[in-house]
Order: sequence, then structure tokens, then C-alpha cells
Amino acid sequence: MSLGERLGFDPARIFISGEWISPAGGRTLALENPSTGETVGEIARGDKADIDNAVAAARAALNGGWGALTALERGRILTRMGRLVLDNVDLLAELEAADVGKPLAQARNDAVALARYLEFYGGAADKVHGQTIPYLDGYTVYSLREPHGVTGHIVPWNYPMQIIGRSVGAALAMGNAAVLKPAEEACLTALAFAHIADQAGLPEGALNVVPGLGEEAGAALSAHPGINHISFTGSVGVGSLVQAAAAANVVPVTLELGGKSPQLVFDDADIERALPFLVNAGIQNAGQTCSASSRILVHRDVYDEVVERMAERYRSLRVGPAADDLDVGPLISARQKEIVSGFLDLAAQDGLTVAARGNVSADAPAGGHYVEPTLIAGVSPDHRLAQDEIFGPVQVVIPFDAESDAIAIANGTDYGLVAGVWTRDGGRQMRLAKAIHTGQVFINNYGAGGGVELPFGGVSKSGHGREKGFEALYGFSVLKTVAAHHG
Ligand code: NAD
Repeated sequence: MSLGERLGFDPARIFISGEWISPAGGRTLALENPSTGETVGEIARGDKADIDNAVAAARAALNGGWGALTALERGRILTRMGRLVLDNVDLLAELEAADVGKPLAQARNDAVALARYLEFYGGAADKVHGQTIPYLDGYTVYSLREPHGVTGHIVPWNYPMQIIGRSVGAALAMGNAAVLKPAEEACLTALAFAHIADQAGLPEGALNVVPGLGEEAGAALSAHPGINHISFTGSVGVGSLVQAAAAANVVPVTLELGGKSPQLVFDDADIERALPFLVNAGIQNAGQTCSASSRILVHRDVYDEVVERMAERYRSLRVGPAADDLDVGPLISARQKEIVSGFLDLAAQDGLTVAARGNVSADAPAGGHYVEPTLIAGVSPDHRLAQDEIFGPVQVVIPFDAESDAIAIANGTDYGLVAGVWTRDGGRQMRLAKAIHTGQVFINNYGAGGGVELPFGGVSKSGHGREKGFEALYGFSVLKTVAAHHG
């Protein structure tokens, strides 16, 4: 049975106005399995003409059946979509594992998280409301929360399901009509999401999905004068292009960009509890996580112990094809492997200390994009490996002495996405939560990508705007003030 027959739709088509159609230019892109490097099919290469059609379909939905629904009705549809995602977790996990290369258990977590976003935003759709505002005598003033209109969503390949759930889920809950441009490297679950939305009864045009290249379909979406809001998740470079393109149309933008997120381990930390968080937050999804914890800052009194215990875990890490469900899968592409290998070469060239490496399984296919997870100790905070986002399973360990040094190092990169603080000292917990410049601070835990309920987003070059949690519903809506004079 072909993939299309199994899925119930043809992955080489795009989804516009409730129909599976061929892209206007009739072109396709190869679909690669990162675990083997083999081409396993093709997807559509949508372009500007398809984006124009998708934006027009979304506008028609706002003026038609979708726009006429109540918040309760929208919420029920999202909740049904969540149910269907749960019913199809195994298939979605299999698709994501094959497309992204992430081990099956991690892909399964992403599918469950997608369902959770839909449940959360389905339940929240009719719970967002305005306020009454005391004003002059003879007036009644209140505010309304209204949809932006047509929202554009450009997502990366690393967590397609989770990012679609948090971005498109919240936008639909608020009554927007969405145009989704998934990443060219991994868009199967975005297409499956459209299929599920259709089955759940989402009115035509409320969701449109156009796979294609970033510089074609992505650029066309971000510069489109017909959209009213754009949510972009991806690299800093492309994020600033998207923001500039949207600025020309004065369209508001949410940017979820990269990170160099630290975990700070103090001498009074519960190291036993911290260990799995320290390592997993660096190697989850082969380190290709915006909120990966790629810097571990350790107080000098416990430094040797932490490095050795992390190294022990690294030596036991097994790397192999997604379907084997080991600790770490391949990177997404040959290009990504080249980037990560470049950082490892730089570490060798500069004489940095490799504390430990994981093991690529002997029978991992030669064409797969595997790298050994690598723990590098004693790194200076200003070295490139401690400053740049590597986006691979590489963590650096940096020693510190005073609390003030730890804060300065934690804040000493261009990014500010997530931080973790490991200490039993309550006063220090509170001080650091304030002193660290990030969108999230975890105390005695760390959530790489986790927490549907928790508002998420960056400061500095990690971006601006918040997704996830209830907060996203404010971002995906506009506040209107109504002032009525009645004497
Ligand atoms: P990327 O910026 O290359 O691509 C992201 C998306 O943008 C893709 O859909 C791509 O097709 C599209 N795109 C590319 N060029 C474009 C253009 N000129 N105009 C419009 N769209 C364009 O990023 P990537 O390599 O796919 O993802 C990795 C980056 O994403 C990392 O920096 C990572 O930290 C970041 N990321 C951030 C978050 C977050 O929530 N903060 C989550 C996941 C990934």
C-alpha cells in the first residue's frame, strides 16, 4: 500500500479550502528519510501562487462558515481534532520518526502533545473575554477580544507537531483562519494534521497547508499583504527576514527563534535529581531543540563530580535509526551534520576537552546523518561553542565560582529562551529567577519543549511574543475598546 493510500491523502498535494490539490507550478520536492539518507517519496513544492490561493481561501472562510461559528463551536471542533490525534498517535509518531529522524518514543510524545494543545485550546476557546472599564459618568466602556483575521504560520522541521499545535491551535481557538507553511525537510505530520482537521469537521478554508521552500512559499507568506498576523518559528536569520517582510505591510509578528539555554548547578544542588535533566535537555531530538540546554554551568566545588556523572551517561548513549527507538536519532540532513561536525572540529582544533562521547550503533545505515553525542568540559564562556547555537547533541560544561559569575555567564550570550537553576537555597532560587534574562526559568527541573500550559518565548535574539498556555490566546487576538455614551 502506498503512503498516500495509508494516510487517506496524497502527500504530494497541498490543502486549500478543504481540497487536496496539486501545487500551481506542478513541482515537487524529494522526501528524505534522515535515518537512511534515502529518498522515500515526494512532497509538493508550493509557491507564491499557492500562497495567494491559500490566503484567499482563509479570507473566504472568515467571511463564511468559519467566521460564523461561536467560540463554543470552534472549541468543540478543536477538541474533536485532539481526540482524532489521540486515536492516530501511532501513525503520527511513525510519520514523524521517519520524516524528522526522531526516535519513536520521542515522536510519540510529540503526537500526544499535539493532542494536548488541541484539548487545551479547544477548552479555552470560549473562556477568553474582555473587561468592563470604569470611565466618565454616562458611559459604559468595555473591551472585546477579536481574531486578527488571516494568520500565517511558518514552522521548522524539528518539532512540527508540537509547534503546529501551539501556534495553529491557539490561532483557530480565537477564530482566525490559518495558512500553514511547514518546513520542506519535514511536513508529513502537517499534512496529516490537515486531514484530521477535515475529518473533525473544521470548515473549509479555516486551515490551509502549503508545503514548499522557505525562500519561495515562506517568503511569499511573510510578505503577503492579505495576512493580518504571522507566527514564525525558526532561525534568527530567517526570523529577521520575516519580520522585515511583515513590517512592510505593518503586520504583527511573533518570533520563536533559537537559544543557548543554560542550566546552573550550585554546590547545594540535588545532583542525583538534576542528572537526567542535565543530559536529556541536551540530547533530546539529537540536540535539535530550540530550548535545548547546551550550556551546563557548574559550581567549582561540585564541578568534577557533575562532569564525571554526566560523562558516565554520555558513554551509555546509543545512537541509531529512529525506528530502533534508541536514545538519539540522526540529524535532519547532511547539511545539519556538516554544521555540527564543524563545531566538533573547532573544539578539536582549539584543544577543548572531550569528557565523553555516545556511540553510533554499528548497524546504523551509512547514509544516515549520525553524529556522536559529545560532552565538552572546561569551556570558556566566550568560546564559540559556548556562544553559538550548535543544534546538535553537543553540550559544553563551564565552571563558575560566585553566584554573580554564574548570572553573568548565563546572561552572556545573544539569546534568552530558557534557563534551569539547581539549588536548594530558596533565596537564591528567587534571586536567579529574576536575574536571568530568559522567557522561562525552571527551578530544580528543566522543560525542553515541555508544558503546553506554560507561556513560552524568548527575549533578545530568541525572539518576541509568547506562545503556549493561555497567554497565546491574547497574542492571537486583538483587543477592541468600545465606549458607549448613554447619558
Ligand atoms: P529556518 O529558519 O531555516 O526555517 C524555518 C522555517 O522558515 C521553514 O519552514 C523554512 O522553510 C522557512 N523559511 C526559510 N527561509 C525563509 C524565508 N526566506 N522566508 C520565509 N520563510 C523561510 O530554521 P530551521 O533550520 O528549520 O530550524 C532551526 C531553528 O529554529 C533553530 O535556530 C531553532 O532554535 C529554531 N527553533 C525555535 C523554536 C522556538 O520555539 N523558539 C522552536 C523550534 C526551532
